Amino acid sequence: SRILSHLHPQPEDQILKLTALFRDDPRPVKLDLGVGVYRNAAGQTPVMRAVKAAEKQLWQDETSKSYTSLAGDPGFHKVMRDLVLGDAVDHTRVAAAATVGGTGALSIALDLVKRAAPGATVWVSDPTWPNHVPIIGKCGLASNVYRYFDAENRAVNFSAMMEDLARVAPGDVVLLHGCCHNPTGANLTLPEWQEVARLLTQTGALPLIDLAYQGFGDGLEEDAAATRLVAAACPDTLIAASCSKNFGIYRERTGIVLAVTPDAAAQGVVQGNLAALNRLTYSFPPDHGARLVTMVLESPALRADWQAELEDIRTSMLGLRRQLADELRARTGSDRFGFLAQHRGMFSRLGAKPEQVARLRDEHGIYMVGDSRMNIAGLSPATVPALATAIAACGI
Ligand code: PMP
Repeated sequence: SRILSHLHPQPEDQILKLTALFRDDPRPVKLDLGVGVYRNAAGQTPVMRAVKAAEKQLWQDETSKSYTSLAGDPGFHKVMRDLVLGDAVDHTRVAAAATVGGTGALSIALDLVKRAAPGATVWVSDPTWPNHVPIIGKCGLASNVYRYFDAENRAVNFSAMMEDLARVAPGDVVLLHGCCHNPTGANLTLPEWQEVARLLTQTGALPLIDLAYQGFGDGLEEDAAATRLVAAACPDTLIAASCSKNFGIYRERTGIVLAVTPDAAAQGVVQGNLAALNRLTYSFPPDHGARLVTMVLESPALRADWQAELEDIRTSMLGLRRQLADELRARTGSDRFGFLAQHRGMFSRLGAKPEQVARLRDEHGIYMVGDSRMNIAGLSPATVPALATAIAACGI
């Protein structure tokens, strides 16, 4: 038979399947808390003002669309290094490559690990973003899980996490969510991050930090604090940062790998390997989104406007969290949903059983992912009461 008839059918993407189910639901009142895209109270995902202004300026000023360099534009590396790392490490130690979104950054970072330590196991939190483990496998690396989420309390089980991380081998990699854990919403405190960083230096494992939501949790600087703390403590650190959410440029596919290397001598070799991996994978990374990010961050006026809009997005999600926790306290007479106000970022795992998630959908038109992850940005102040009523009615 023919080669192409040997392929296996692929499992449907659960989240995209949910989007289609929602779209086809004829009920007039329904609520989509599925896919991880920010939406405002009107349900839209607008182009951010500063990004729009940068695009207009770029259209006027851009004279060529010839190739950039293999690792992307050095101006983009600089603004992103500053945004993510600040002054946490000596800049001469940082290698960087623009990538196809945060997903591309993870993939290139793991390709780099495969070159440096082909036998490494990559440890991921239980649970983690569903794309992590398949990407690790695609890069030819083994994966394992460390305990993370305490389903009973909807919080991090820190002692279990530390117990598991203590058993990680020196040549292994630990994948950490820098802020706004996806899918749970539960995060470490800074003192806990300090303990993690100390343990990483003791075991000699390499941290790989996935930073996809900087600015969506406690603020731009606050959300980078854990990443900076780990990078400052460990001899080397890999960071995969995404600009999809905090610049609202999902479809432009903008991300970056930052590799904090042991010293300036190692930096050159790592930089060469990142450029080579980009070359092998797609030659040159996309530039449009990276250029917009660079323009916004380099212009004081655009940057101030971007930060103000990002802050509005962040505080609106926090407000929705508090409102939902309050409404649930009023309806259930208990504090067991207080975790919703403690969680950070776009998601919270509600902790509902699969039957209850199905009831929310079938009886109330409320769509969330099967593991009961809900996108807080899918709510608005007007729809929170209906969600609280439905959660209480389903006995969650
Ligand atoms: N990591 C995590 C944890 C994410 O949630 C996402 C986006 N869903 C990404 C990485 C990748 O984002 P993108 O490739 O769209 O930049």
